[in-house]
Amino acid sequence: MKILTMERISMYKPSISASDLKNWYFCPRLIYWRRVFRAPWVSGKVVKIGRKGEDLSWLPRIARFRNCDVKRNVCLRSRKYELVGCIDALITCGRETYPLELKRGSYIRGHDVQLGAYALLIEDAFQTEVRLGFLYYPRKVLQEVKINHMLRKKVIWTINKVRDIIDSGKMPQPTKEKWKCLVCDHSSYCRGV
Ligand code: SF4
Repeated sequence: MKILTMERISMYKPSISASDLKNWYFCPRLIYWRRVFRAPWVSGKVVKIGRKGEDLSWLPRIARFRNCDVKRNVCLRSRKYELVGCIDALITCGRETYPLELKRGSYIRGHDVQLGAYALLIEDAFQTEVRLGFLYYPRKVLQEVKINHMLRKKVIWTINKVRDIIDSGKMPQPTKEKWKCLVCDHSSYCRGV
């Protein structure tokens, strides 16, 4: 299995990305603007900002990752799930492999599904089983997420939800959580539609 670069992964745009799944939980209408209407990100507010370049050289020094190998920004594609994704860090400890996703702020719905999507990508790419993943929040808050049957089902369910919007081209209802519109790139034209 070849690991793809972030540039190469953009060639597979028709595939759903792990970030699309997270974005669906933020607001399904976001999928419409990004994947159907193809509106560009304009400001890079909360939904977009990541921590891709952050230094993680300290990670192998903490007990649970001692002697583990850490690869940054690993992009994978799965034909089986028609899914793509760039994992912030791929941690290999002996026979175990874990995805780690860097997050700003605190946990919101969808972070676990994004991580679960990375687990499916790793499993398909390396023919292995991923049992755990990690969400890493500011101030070195490391949250362990079990990649169990329920999470896998939730990932597949969400892929289908995103696929429905892309295939139908129908605009979903806006979110009822108004604060999300305040940090959304599409707020200037979205709420009036
Ligand atoms: S402006 Fe609000 S309703 Fe529209 S896509 Fe953004 S979060 Fe959703």
